[in-house]
Amino acid sequence: MSDGPVIACSGLRKTYRQGPHEVPVLLGIDLAIGRGERLAIVGASGSGKSTLLHLLGGLDQPSGGEVRIDGKDIGRLGEAEKSAVRNASLGFVYQFHHLLNEFSALENVAMPLLIRRMPPGEAAERAAQMLRQVGLGHRLTHTPGELSGGERQRAALARALVTRPACLLADEPTGNLDRHTAEGVLALMLELNRTLATSLVVVTHDPAIASRMDRTLRLEDGTIQV
Ligand code: ADP
Ligand code: MG
Repeated sequence: MSDGPVIACSGLRKTYRQGPHEVPVLLGIDLAIGRGERLAIVGASGSGKSTLLHLLGGLDQPSGGEVRIDGKDIGRLGEAEKSAVRNASLGFVYQFHHLLNEFSALENVAMPLLIRRMPPGEAAERAAQMLRQVGLGHRLTHTPGELSGGERQRAALARALVTRPACLLADEPTGNLDRHTAEGVLALMLELNRTLATSLVVVTHDPAIASRMDRTLRLEDGTIQV
């Protein structure tokens, strides 16, 4: 792990192609996310927030510019190396939990560790510990269908954070939750930011969430408004 930004991008551009049409979405974004920093990304629906988050997480190819994760220019890496960098440095949370329905909470949270070839016993122990940390110690064997919306989102957070990533990328993580449950999930993210020093990049429509971050970027017309 280097001392520089967890994620940085420069001149980042994205244009989608739809048949004969080009849809320019990001026109050149420069951004650096510091260690432990908490950043909100806001903007109208369709302004490119999810696109930016995907590019910062190395989940999609930019049309131009570069992204560095932990100092590594991911445009120069092959798929296998890129997913290794993602697995080592990043965690992802979405509006919908994307947990695997046929597996228990414990199995879902252990999965990123098993992918890293951690021995199953150790992975299960670490997963249980992480689930206890998000207040789900009593729900280890429940499947996602047997959890409430807030519990599912906390399980998704546990899965994203069990590998101790340098940065959590969250796309409207509370967008599907009621106010009270959303508050709980936000409080948990902030606590994990403090205790694990995980940087947070949170796309949100909610001013109450944005106000709890260190800074807020507004996307408009393909650029960051200052
Ligand atoms: P936001 O998350 O801010 O609502 P998105 O990043 O999802 O915005 O989308 C930005 C714009 O890019 C929208 O106009 C959307 O229709 C378009 N877009 C997103 N994904 C694709 C895609 N795979 N193909 C074509 N256009 C896309
Ligand atoms: Mg979006």
